[in-house]
Amino acid sequence: MIIGKIDKNEKKIKFHLDIKCTKCGKTVPGGMQASENYFGSDSFKIEIDNFKKNYLCGICRDKKRLDKQ
Ligand SMILES: [Zn+2]
Repeated sequence: MIIGKIDKNEKKIKFHLDIKCTKCGKTVPGGMQASENYFGSDSFKIEIDNFKKNYLCGICRDKKRLDKQ
């Protein structure tokens, strides 16, 4: 998964994030990528925060989608 934008010429930083599903609490190890410039910036931290707050695992995401139909 990519956090923020990575331009073609930018260096990528790969990092690992343990994300928890906000619904069932299952921990999902995530292989993440961000650009070198973006990584560690304030907006990067905010985006990671938001990402974690809204994260649903595949099963809960499917459920949510089915519930809406
Ligand atoms: Zn879940």
